[in-house]
Amino acid sequence: MKTYQGKSTSNAIAIGKAFVLRRSKLPTWREHSANSAWELSRLKAAKVLAKGQLQDLAAKALQETGPSYAEIFEVHQMLLEDAAFNETIQSFISKNAFTAEAAVAAARDLFEEKFSAMEDPYFQARATDIADVADRVIRCLSVRAQESAFFGQGDEKVILCAQDLTPSETIQLDKSKIAAFVTASGTLNSHTAILARSLQIPAIVGIGEECLQSIQDGMRLMVDGFTGEVLLSPDSDEEEARLQKQAQYEEKMLHLRELIGKESVTKDGKKIKICANVGDPENLAEVLDNDADGIGLLRSEFLYLSSTDYPSEEEQFQAYRLVLERMKGKQVIIRTLDVGADKQIDYFHLDHEENPALGFRAIRLCLTHLELFRTQLRALYRASAYGNLGILFPMITSVTEVEQILTLCKQVKKELQAENLPYNEKVELGIMIETPAAALISDLLAPMVDFFSVGTNDLTQYTLALDRQNAKLDPFCDTHHEAILRLIAMAATNAKKCGTWIGICGELAADTSLTERFLRMGIDELSVSAPFVLPLRDIVRNLDLSKPEDA
Ligand code: PEP
Ligand code: MG
Repeated sequence: MKTYQGKSTSNAIAIGKAFVLRRSKLPTWREHSANSAWELSRLKAAKVLAKGQLQDLAAKALQETGPSYAEIFEVHQMLLEDAAFNETIQSFISKNAFTAEAAVAAARDLFEEKFSAMEDPYFQARATDIADVADRVIRCLSVRAQESAFFGQGDEKVILCAQDLTPSETIQLDKSKIAAFVTASGTLNSHTAILARSLQIPAIVGIGEECLQSIQDGMRLMVDGFTGEVLLSPDSDEEEARLQKQAQYEEKMLHLRELIGKESVTKDGKKIKICANVGDPENLAEVLDNDADGIGLLRSEFLYLSSTDYPSEEEQFQAYRLVLERMKGKQVIIRTLDVGADKQIDYFHLDHEENPALGFRAIRLCLTHLELFRTQLRALYRASAYGNLGILFPMITSVTEVEQILTLCKQVKKELQAENLPYNEKVELGIMIETPAAALISDLLAPMVDFFSVGTNDLTQYTLALDRQNAKLDPFCDTHHEAILRLIAMAATNAKKCGTWIGICGELAADTSLTERFLRMGIDELSVSAPFVLPLRDIVRNLDLSKPEDA
């Protein structure tokens, strides 16, 4: 038995067989494989996935843009099944011992060249199509083909081990088949860790390269979320002892369920809201089960990450409406699109950036691509008629950005009015305080909006100049750094001055050693992942703010 130390996202234990995700990076051609049969089976699984994607795209295109656009994806389906193309790929695998990716890429180059050289412009144009189809198959060969090949083998859940997982990979995985995640890199503030926490799947991040190299597919692993350890081939005594710890914890949690239906109020009568963060509405049941006072942050990225193309206004409207209806009048704060940096989406085709965290992301992208932003705002306002919606805008750094947002919101409301589409006039508008700039000008921003929501994950990254994705920087990451706490206090003081309410939705909101300090600053809402709601309510109910801080 070997034990490795990483960082845990939740208090839970998981035991299961390992499945190591070995992502093949593009470009992959000229890589060889000794196991042609395996490569052929991977190719088969990837083609099934690609076919499903193309069928979905054809149906969507038909609905949204009519038959001529849909035809493109029908042609792609035909190319996917083209006999000559497939024979070439298979021969590269069998005769040249290429990996499936290398074989598809080699066949792609061959066919692209052949089509481009043709006289007939119709066939020339097919060169782009064949390249597109081939690239789709290569992408499908990456994560999901492996997933389906492995997950197809039975109902047993696996412990998914990887170098790292991107947010779009995480959201697309079949969560019902995963007992836990283990990643060699990543930090507790990385989006994959946050998503795992909100999906309530135990995850250990930053376990290190050595551990990942030692794990073989099918090896029995134990993930101890209490200590952040991963045990390789644990012995039965060790398993037993750790499972007992889990049982004790569950008993304590059961006790906390007595707080369901009770207010989050301190002994001296200060009431706050304890809400839940949601990364994927699949988890709404847990939000309700843990009696959250509402949703303090719904990351709308889920819609974009799990899709193969821009979600339409109607798709978004239906998704937001469903959440609002299920929350039955409780506050639901939906954050507008926050992609870029580590949250990359293929179909956005974002340029490579030297410093993506300081780059073209979140509100910057939305204020540049106004049609994209307008579509989301229209969907949000239309959904507002079905519940208690607040709209939150990420990565704000200036007054001008907020002015632009407010103008756009006004325009959208006017449009809906003209179209006789109902919306709620009282939708609250808020901004994330997640850059030092926003905190420092919070006196100017507070009168413009209804609420502030402090994003401590990015606020930490930008204040301490620490890349939140980089596990090597963990020793330097002091989440209680006075600079961060002062910026939060400054935003709270400025918010209070003009009746703007302020919440915290970053991971620091769940840090119970800071709860008293946050409440003394005047924080009105803490939004955390669902399992933290009741433990936090317990802490709040035992605080007495009328007594001096260290009494
Ligand atoms: C944050 O930055 O604290 C936050 C809540 O947003 P995200 O983690 O999605 O960047
Ligand atoms: Mg953020």
